[in-house]
Amino acid sequence: MATINDKITDAIRAQARKLLETGEVAALIGYAAGSLPMTVKPLVVRRPEECDRLVWNTFCVLNLATYLPEVLSSVEIPRDLRDPKPEEPQAKVAILATGCWSRNIVVQIQEKRVARERVVVVGVGSRGMVSRAKVKALFPGQEILTVEEGDHDLVVQGLDFTETINRWSVVRDNCQTCAHPDPVLVDIRIGEPVSERKNPHPYKQVELIEQRSVDERWAWFTAEFATCIRCYACRNVCPLCYCPTCFVDDAKPQWLGKSLDAVDTGLFHILRAHHCAGRCTDCGACESVCPMGINMRMLTKKLNKDVLELFGIEAGMEPEAPLQLTMYPSASPEFIVTDLAPVPVPSRKPFESAGIPSAEGDTSCKP
Ligand code: SF4
Ligand code: SF4
Ligand code: SF4
Repeated sequence: MATINDKITDAIRAQARKLLETGEVAALIGYAAGSLPMTVKPLVVRRPEECDRLVWNTFCVLNLATYLPEVLSSVEIPRDLRDPKPEEPQAKVAILATGCWSRNIVVQIQEKRVARERVVVVGVGSRGMVSRAKVKALFPGQEILTVEEGDHDLVVQGLDFTETINRWSVVRDNCQTCAHPDPVLVDIRIGEPVSERKNPHPYKQVELIEQRSVDERWAWFTAEFATCIRCYACRNVCPLCYCPTCFVDDAKPQWLGKSLDAVDTGLFHILRAHHCAGRCTDCGACESVCPMGINMRMLTKKLNKDVLELFGIEAGMEPEAPLQLTMYPSASPEFIVTDLAPVPVPSRKPFESAGIPSAEGDTSCKP
């Protein structure tokens, strides 16, 4: 019998085919099956005959919003600026989106990274995605060969075992505490809407750490990040980390050393988390891809909690609103600096006149 996700897969394929055949979009961003058990990979389909490769299952943990700007660029028609003809509208791209991914698309629209009119959001209510790490932890030392997904169970098969486990028990922590599983921005809906969740303790894991003493919190932090290998997978997979040059890669000035020194590693994580403040949707992609099983999401989750308590903001919940943390009333007591004295404007450097951008022109966020 077809499962809920089988039916969603069929509906996604049919919708993708229709969008591409009618020319409404030039591409759709979805998932294909991965080559290993419990994995999927992002897939961009550009022709109707490719649509049967699309899948939807409980292991779709990557945040597709990360790929949206690049795919939009890939379908743009190069323009000749000398051509006097009026500009044709650029092609659209469709993208699958659950609650948190749709909120990341909203943030990208608010940050003017993508144009709303060029995006077709194909919304799917999320039933929560499964953590590979949680499944693997149930079978220590055993190789998992296949995992068959039912609506409420997973059948896990290895060389000499077959076991059925409850699906919700291995759903990722961020999905288990998610209050907004349904997309906030939807152009085409797949499947049934999913209700908002009333979660009385959405920040319980953060609160458990907050309740500890300073020394205990420091011990947690240093132990948690001690095994980080600085691969930057957590940064690369995040739809918010799109600076042309990340502060960790800057050579002039060099904000951080390149070694695995604990101070450099800790600083990377603290600064990256602060760069995501008011923007992170707790999609969990960073945590899902970490090869070392590090719980760096606790830092962004803590900042999500602070931003909610201080400013009443949850990132990406209001598609029509501007990016709230860039707006503040000057009398706001929460604002970090009040009564700013005028900042002296540095004199223009001579090479600017030769068309070479200066450091002041770099708008990427830095520490
Ligand atoms: S500078 Fe900050 S926001 Fe930009 S890519 Fe690096 S960590 Fe992400
Ligand atoms: S910081 Fe992590 S949880 Fe937050 S949006 Fe980025 S990938 Fe998702
Ligand atoms: S993905 Fe994991 S190991 Fe890699 S930099 Fe991030 S926390 Fe460190």
